[in-house]
Amino acid sequence: MYYHVNGELVDSSNASVSVRDRGFMYGDAAFETLRAYGGSIFEWEAHLARLKRTCETLAMPDAVPGDLANRVEETLAANDLEDAYVRVSVTRGEQPGKLTPHPTVEPTIVVIVASLPRGGLDGRSIWDEPAVLRTVKTRRIPDEALPADIKTHNYLNGILARLELRRTQRGDTIADEALIRDLNGYITEGTTSNVFFITDGTLCTPSLDASILPGITRSVVLSLAQKVNIPVETDHYRIEDIHAANEVFLTNTTWELRPVTTLDGIEIETGAMTDRLIRLFNQRIEQFY
Ligand code: PMP
Repeated sequence: MYYHVNGELVDSSNASVSVRDRGFMYGDAAFETLRAYGGSIFEWEAHLARLKRTCETLAMPDAVPGDLANRVEETLAANDLEDAYVRVSVTRGEQPGKLTPHPTVEPTIVVIVASLPRGGLDGRSIWDEPAVLRTVKTRRIPDEALPADIKTHNYLNGILARLELRRTQRGDTIADEALIRDLNGYITEGTTSNVFFITDGTLCTPSLDASILPGITRSVVLSLAQKVNIPVETDHYRIEDIHAANEVFLTNTTWELRPVTTLDGIEIETGAMTDRLIRLFNQRIEQFY
């Protein structure tokens, strides 16, 4: 494999970042996970905007290089990949001094890719199995401490939630995503996904001010639903709301739409509306080929 490190394509076995890099030392970095379909990045502009917004919040507004799209394209081409997972990281790089960031930023820019075939029958989504979702005790870091709407290398909140899933596993059903609430008990999101549920024909998802990452897939799903006049509601929800739902699914760039078949031990059917939205999403992607 070839990766792109600081403007150069290098063999992945030689791709490395300094141990003094602040992304490594402090998680002082922004990143995006993207997908390429047929050689083109899905929702590139939205990902780029989120990456820039994260960098602005980290006070390194110029860190995203102007030729980032080319670097991604070159990496895909060097690996002869059309359908791929792509990850772009922009760190604050190496700096003199300790924790306080230096105003002069020489960022480290890394693009890594992996083959991610569309796979499955009828162009269905990539996830192997529907999700088993479980509410965890670990709460979302409050926005006042670490804004949820930026995507930084700091994923410890989610990692601790996933570790809690493993530590508290009972029986054979292994939960593979944790549903995280905020300190007031409202549902936020999964560790790497946004959550949707359907109640009485209305598509519901926590609103943007509910301590969530504004998922790009979330926003595509909302606009697809609105286009076909599915009633949509975004609000603050409690666990009881989602437990009473008829259908539940998760979204992220890698999983696309992933139905939830078990939530806190409650079995859920993959219903007609989830299937319909998956079909609409697949139609969007087919335009890439
Ligand atoms: N929330 C979190 C915490 C995530 O890490 C992700 C994955 N980026 C998402 C939601 C879903 O976002 P997207 O649809 O942009 O991949």
